Amino acid sequence: MSTLLSSIEHITRSRACRIAFRRWGSHLFGGKPPIEYSGIKPPAPIHHILTLDTYDRHSPIRFEDIRYVPLVFPLAYSMGGGAISYQVVDDQKIKISHLSKFRPEDPSYMLLDSLPERRASLIALTYAERRILGSDILDRSLLDRWRMRRLWNGECFRVAGMLRYEPSLGSCPAKKDAEQNGCTAWRFAHFPASKRPFGDIWHEYSSDVWFCFALCFDCGTIHAFMDCT
Ligand SMILES: [Zn+2]
Repeated sequence: MSTLLSSIEHITRSRACRIAFRRWGSHLFGGKPPIEYSGIKPPAPIHHILTLDTYDRHSPIRFEDIRYVPLVFPLAYSMGGGAISYQVVDDQKIKISHLSKFRPEDPSYMLLDSLPERRASLIALTYAERRILGSDILDRSLLDRWRMRRLWNGECFRVAGMLRYEPSLGSCPAKKDAEQNGCTAWRFAHFPASKRPFGDIWHEYSSDVWFCFALCFDCGTIHAFMDCT
């Protein structure tokens, strides 16, 4: 298992970024990159959301000797309530410690077997963009309406910055004997099932569903889960 280099300060002080699709971007959104799985063997394909280039100065997480960290989610699992937990073993290699049940007889929440593939960059949010994302004012100025369009009407994909503290996720291998043995994790990325910019690719998921990724600093586990906003 790779050693986690980033600290809580690293993640909480990282600059809040949105994902922008750029031909020269060093991160990969969607597609089907070759990811090796160990631990729990996935009974059905797991969707690739983003491979994070952790050498990017905006990357909120960093591991020893690893550059590319895949963020994956079981979108087609478990009647729209999927979750996965895993540790990063090597570039594009992960070890799954928890995975939602897959029942082939359930109606599929996701029809596409992969998300549209794009190169992506992390673009730091401006002060005005952070202000607008944090407010729910409907009567916006022309300039703010233009900003909102760039932020996909507030549903842009986000990485880094102070997203949220997740006090208890799964059971943490680093605190087996402790009374509170859940992972204490920080959310470092979330992806709303937004209709922008690809149209309705998320099938049964509505745009109030966010696919979230959090990292435990005690054991280095990445927890991916859904949040309904
Ligand atoms: Zn943990």
